[in-house]
Amino acid sequence: MPLLADVAVPVPLSQAFTYEVPAALASEVRPGARVLCEFHRRKLLGVVLAVSERSAAIDPSKIKPLAALVDARPALPAELLSFLQELAAYYFAPIGEVLRLALPAIEREQVRALKAQGELGGVLDLGRAKQVGGRKVAYATATDAVEEPGTLRGQAAAVLALLRANGEQPVARLEERYGNARSALKKLAERGLVALEEREPPRDPFFRLPEERDVPPELNPAQAEAAARIDAAIAALSAPGKAAPPAPGEAEAPGAAPREARPAGPSAFLLFGVTGSGKTEVYLRAIKSCLDRGRGALVMVPEIALTPQLVARFRARFGDELAVLHSALSDADRHAMWASLHGGKVRVAIGARSALFAPVPDLGLILVDEEHDGSFKQEEGVRYHARDMALLRAHRAGAVCVLGSATPSIESVALVRRGKLAELRLPERAHREASLPEVTLVDLRRFGAGPSGDPLISLPLHRALERTLAAKEQAILFLNRRGFAPSVVCGSCGNLTTCSACSVALTYHRGRRRDARPLAPGGAPAPGPAAPPDERPQGGLLRCHYCDYAGPLPERCASCGSRTLLLEGLGTERLEATIAASFPEARVARLDRDVAGKDRSQAILARMREGKIDILVGTQMVTKGHDLPNVTLVGVVNADAALGLPDFRAAERGFQLLVQVAGRAGRRDRPGRVLIQTRNPEHPAIAFAAAHNVPGFLEREIRDREEVGYPPATRLALIRIDAVDEGVGRGAAAKLAAHARTCPDGLARRVEVLGPSAAPIARLRGRYRFRVLLRARERGPLRGTLAALTGLMRDGIDRNARVIIDVDPVAML
Ligand code: ADP
Ligand code: ZN
Ligand code: ZN
Repeated sequence: MPLLADVAVPVPLSQAFTYEVPAALASEVRPGARVLCEFHRRKLLGVVLAVSERSAAIDPSKIKPLAALVDARPALPAELLSFLQELAAYYFAPIGEVLRLALPAIEREQVRALKAQGELGGVLDLGRAKQVGGRKVAYATATDAVEEPGTLRGQAAAVLALLRANGEQPVARLEERYGNARSALKKLAERGLVALEEREPPRDPFFRLPEERDVPPELNPAQAEAAARIDAAIAALSAPGKAAPPAPGEAEAPGAAPREARPAGPSAFLLFGVTGSGKTEVYLRAIKSCLDRGRGALVMVPEIALTPQLVARFRARFGDELAVLHSALSDADRHAMWASLHGGKVRVAIGARSALFAPVPDLGLILVDEEHDGSFKQEEGVRYHARDMALLRAHRAGAVCVLGSATPSIESVALVRRGKLAELRLPERAHREASLPEVTLVDLRRFGAGPSGDPLISLPLHRALERTLAAKEQAILFLNRRGFAPSVVCGSCGNLTTCSACSVALTYHRGRRRDARPLAPGGAPAPGPAAPPDERPQGGLLRCHYCDYAGPLPERCASCGSRTLLLEGLGTERLEATIAASFPEARVARLDRDVAGKDRSQAILARMREGKIDILVGTQMVTKGHDLPNVTLVGVVNADAALGLPDFRAAERGFQLLVQVAGRAGRRDRPGRVLIQTRNPEHPAIAFAAAHNVPGFLEREIRDREEVGYPPATRLALIRIDAVDEGVGRGAAAKLAAHARTCPDGLARRVEVLGPSAAPIARLRGRYRFRVLLRARERGPLRGTLAALTGLMRDGIDRNARVIIDVDPVAML
């Protein structure tokens, strides 16, 4: 019988393909190894899933031999390989695309180079990455100049829009996307719209400064209890013979109960600790327990760029033997990190969502910090949830999993109630003098504008800011909208300016241009009214927050031709300008996606920590777990903004945001104050947040979800359909919905089919969007229905419609 290999190749098909293993490679081709194989006359890089001697299920003459073995030591360790297969099955995702998530980009690049060399045979060792150094890279940035409307076309317009939307880009990256990027950039540079610059790529910002080793503090009783229980769990799982990974296909849903072979104690935990309660110290002890037993640890955080402080604490405790996986890494550096984990040289990895796939050696612990955070869900390509999958990977690897949060997700709380997670509580702030801040609700229906004239800076907020400045303390103002004005409306006919490709309003961004206002520390504040500038603006851009569009403000209303266009609403840019004008003596800065390119966010947070900023204005980015000792005032400018979205998680998300941002105040000896401005003070998310009553909110929200039949009471899968042509999309959606209703689980009503319907954002990037929502009490019937639909998707749906299965969806818009 021939020796056959099942190989996954990077194509959007869910099955693996069979190849014959040539005799010369028989002893070396193992699961997890990468191979070159011919696929429809192209040579592709694949990953071996399994090897066995058997008779082929298909015509043996159709089976091709493997072209070459790429690495002698499997690129994907057995534990990771079987986890990835399970993940692919859970999400109905093509196995080839899932495997790509786990291989660093440079590996794929090298194979491209190999293929260029033509025929290959034998074993190629790609284990060694070539080092790059002293090499200069060309970067392009959009300037503040604005073109004449309608003078740019084709790739020049597209490149400019991309630069405006995403900030500076390496020229090489633009060339990957646009064939004529070079000539487009030349044209744009000649007109002063784009600036080009050559310089060395940045070195790793997380390791720029040396970090002194710290002395571990004595744990308080709650921390000690949590650390001891995690340690006991790691000890139990690390006992000899306990950590054998199960075979693929064996594991259950995330959070599944441990199997018989496991020790009786819990191995997955929810660390529920109020903001500032010292969760990080518990993480550090857990990692030490794990390292002391010779096993590796993986730490996942929502946004690695915002967590330099956390990385610094890890380095202070464990030194620089740490793989920090972040998006600013060059491909070569990323590969070096990957290789040092893979080779067992480094045993601790820290990173955002994608760190889930780090090849940590002998994985003994996975920590998920701020587990409630929405960024753990990937919203394109393979739509996995890194928190759910962390539980699955840990379970399969015989590792302990700890989910930490001050505002646990409803899903995790439900797992605690079902006995699948053990809860560890840290009920108090770690610093002896620190207490939770006093929260005041400011009812915007009763309080008008303060001296600034802007109704969203009420008199109580204005006074509180004055007091904070007088006491030489710091304030954070949180506003959920970036840009200057969230909408541009015609003063004559009321027409709202919307994106031509998406059914959403365009946001006006004023851009880098600042009012020239002298910053004279200690100098006399310039008096005078600080009228919010809403006369017709000069310069600036309209941007779509959903696609790459950016363009000049039109001269006239598109509907009636009037020249009066009004900027309505308040975004962070305008808030920053208004605050700066109202408090001329204060140093005001802003933190949002528009200013946070590269490591700018780290620089802003560092200035905040050093006391060089008095008032920090920003979006969600200011709510993430920063520990800023001198912040005593937090203002939530408009708490209602997040609560009205058509999404069953809107209340949960709004609540988490409020508690998290409030948690930035009063973390040391000085008491903190929080002002929440709202027109809706009775809303449970606001009322419970104001009372610091997290368990109360969770209790009520779980009950509400049960009543309306949403997760965690039920399970959901969202079928997302989109097409350039509205009719094509609608037709495909109708066909899928009908098919779901008539498959066995649909007919038996074990699965409820909601829709087809238009998505809340009905059009995005020029495509019309539809959806069919599947809902079930049990996972089995839901999977049965999805399996039935994948059959239809393969050959029964108009090719011009794109259909995506989103299991356990998070974004409902
Ligand atoms: P969390 O992650 O729960 O928000 P942190 O881990 O950032 O909280 O801890 C808040 C502050 O308390 C930090 O400054 C930390 O150094 C300090 N801290 C944590 N544990 C202790 C302890 N046992 N003794 C003294 N200080 C502590
Ligand atoms: Zn008009
Ligand atoms: Zn758009």
